[in-house]
Amino acid sequence: MPVTFSNEAIHLAEMHFGPAGYPADTRGSPRRAFQMIREAGLDAMEYAAVYGLRISEERAAALGALADEYGITMSMHAAYYISLASKSDEIRNRSKERLVAGLIFAPLMRVKRVVFHAGGYCGLTPEDAYKVVRNALKEIGTTVLRRGKGALLAPETAGKLGAFGSVEELVRLCAEVDGLIPTIDWAHLHARTQGQMDNKDNYLRVLDTFERELGNRFVHNMHFHVSGIEYSQAGEKAHRPLGQKWGPDILPLLQIVREVGYRPTFISETPNPIHGALYTKLLLDELEKSTE
Ligand SMILES: [Zn+2]
Repeated sequence: MPVTFSNEAIHLAEMHFGPAGYPADTRGSPRRAFQMIREAGLDAMEYAAVYGLRISEERAAALGALADEYGITMSMHAAYYISLASKSDEIRNRSKERLVAGLIFAPLMRVKRVVFHAGGYCGLTPEDAYKVVRNALKEIGTTVLRRGKGALLAPETAGKLGAFGSVEELVRLCAEVDGLIPTIDWAHLHARTQGQMDNKDNYLRVLDTFERELGNRFVHNMHFHVSGIEYSQAGEKAHRPLGQKWGPDILPLLQIVREVGYRPTFISETPNPIHGALYTKLLLDELEKSTE
């Protein structure tokens, strides 16, 4: 496997761990959310704008100030109903506008990565859908650059086989469009490949594909989603807790992270996302101790 092992010591402090969305019981208070994340010993959060970005500039800036105060690394998950390959001009344009809005709000909220699902193939061949998606993202890049703002757009591996977002599609997309990095949702990949994320070689193959093509843009901005997952032949059905009961087994992934010296941000999308983030961090801690 042509991954370059750097044998760098792992620095947990340089990695980030946190929940997708506000933890439960925050009663809608952003300060309480950041406090809970810190009290749990975590330091990242993926702001969930999954039903659209319903926040004023003032509140976005207040959120950014809180992220600074609590030392939380921020990303944002853009709306679920983005469909960049849609046959409807209106839906396609609205999808692009949502991503542009995410990018414009990103600096206010200290968001470095705007995660999104590109949508389905919309009846197109995967190759035609690829081109439509790529061109839409190129236009977004131009729009946002013209406004002088910038965060990275981070298309996510999709868990349903009928959705745009295989490893091959994302690596090509990121290579052909500036300002893009992949979000690797390992649970989605597990579902999409019908259970293959269960050994080191298969994890390495995915990481190596991205690293070979994107180099440091990938290595310096690694963004992972982790959770257990339930799936059928069509792919993803539901996110589940990490651990014994559901795949994927993330231990081989964490072993690679340790051995290579990667420093990803881990966002947990388990039903209790704080638990998932802690589970991931503790597993890495244990690996570190066992080899001291
Ligand atoms: Zn995800």
